Amino acid sequence: MIIVMQQNATKDDVQKIVAKIEHAGLKTHLSVGEEVTILGVIGDKSKLDIDAIAAETSVQKVVPITESYKLANKKFHPEPSRFAVKNTFIGPDNLAIMAGPCAVETEEQLMCIAKAVKKAGATILRGGAYKPRTSPYSFQGLEEEGLKYMKTASDETGLATICEVTSAHAVESAVKYVSMLQVGARNMQNFELLKEVGKTKLPVLLKRGLSATIDEWLNAAEYIMASGNPNVALCERGIRTYETSTRNTLDLSAVCVLKERTHLPVIVDPSHATGVRSYVEPLAKAAVACGADGLMIEVHNDPAHALSDGPQSLTFEQFDSVMEHIKPYAELSGRRI
Ligand code: PEP
Ligand code: MN
Repeated sequence: MIIVMQQNATKDDVQKIVAKIEHAGLKTHLSVGEEVTILGVIGDKSKLDIDAIAAETSVQKVVPITESYKLANKKFHPEPSRFAVKNTFIGPDNLAIMAGPCAVETEEQLMCIAKAVKKAGATILRGGAYKPRTSPYSFQGLEEEGLKYMKTASDETGLATICEVTSAHAVESAVKYVSMLQVGARNMQNFELLKEVGKTKLPVLLKRGLSATIDEWLNAAEYIMASGNPNVALCERGIRTYETSTRNTLDLSAVCVLKERTHLPVIVDPSHATGVRSYVEPLAKAAVACGADGLMIEVHNDPAHALSDGPQSLTFEQFDSVMEHIKPYAELSGRRI
């Protein structure tokens, strides 16, 4: 449940209510907005005298939250969240552009792509060092060596970096080298991994599971937040449907649904959603138009010879074109690139 304080409630008033709740063994989550102060309550409500709290003059109303996700819930935190990623940020007013290869292949390849995406306007370099491939015989990633190249590319270009983690061991390594962690679609409900990234201080991009409902996805975000990490962004990357013309089906309505249900930023990945490079630009425009806080796009110096996801990877020229052509959409949505 949430407790909405009266507009004229003082810090002492809020503190008094917090003390009552904590005395009953429950936890509180304070959200101070421009208009209202909201106290989220987490724990066993049966231990609490809710009527007594509702009767306090500093309390405007007590509202039950029926959804199982609380910290990720917009009712808990009505203002949209924003958080720093190295020297940039994800959140309102900004359009965060994450771009780079599907997989880190060599130091030279990564550096060349990093410079190109930075020149085009990206602020976060993506690159996989642990690749959860469908076939065990496909390239599995350079692991820690790839992470080191990500760090070098970041040091040289100033770009923030994001890398997928697939295990607790990968989390332990990645925190030493990159600015943001990614939990991939195949691991969205790997609850032990969610708890591990929740224990770190790095922001986390949580991709939507291949067949996950929005509710399951928000509960997965809740796992990360409940482990102590509030800096989570959600990434719509297409879901599995009966359609075979595209690799997945981009669910843009998810962006609208999420904007209604959560304060967490929403990123759209048109590369994995379609698997086809010519569909990336139109869907990137559509994603920005419907309110996405950022895009994740795969870019490669030589897509024909990429070790993974070549068919969906953009050339530098194509990425330049996307960056140029999404500008009016970003402007209309009130976001800076
Ligand atoms: C990726 O970003 O490289 C990736 C594997 O994405 P997804 O988890 O969305 O398939
Ligand atoms: Mn990929």
